[in-house]
Amino acid sequence: MKKINRIIITILITILNLFERLRRYKTRWVEDLPDRTDKNTIYIIGGHEHPFYAAITCPRKNCSKVIHLEISKQFEKRWIIKEEKNGALSLNPSIYMVDSPCRCHYWVKNGYIVWHSLPPLFVPKNNRIS
Ligand SMILES: [Zn+2]
Repeated sequence: MKKINRIIITILITILNLFERLRRYKTRWVEDLPDRTDKNTIYIIGGHEHPFYAAITCPRKNCSKVIHLEISKQFEKRWIIKEEKNGALSLNPSIYMVDSPCRCHYWVKNGYIVWHSLPPLFVPKNNRIS
């Protein structure tokens, strides 16, 4: 039974990731993070010269939490950004939002979100972490 559940979940993730191919995240290299951020955009703060951190809006619908990822070489633990030829970004390792109620886990590959696991159907309204 457990095996069947795992197969079903894998199929669902595959379908979800196929839909995710319909939208691609744009990249914007900026000096400062704008007050209002676009949902399908990855911001690289510090620009090309001194990329300091990346900001991305959670891809989970109804969550929209903007998270910051450390990318500067000064951080021991950081995300590696790779700019593809088409300008799209890949981020490594995966993003696991353990501090956010949504607990989303995904990769950004070539500007696309690739889900690691199914995002929860329900995101609590109060953003308190219990
Ligand atoms: Zn989220």
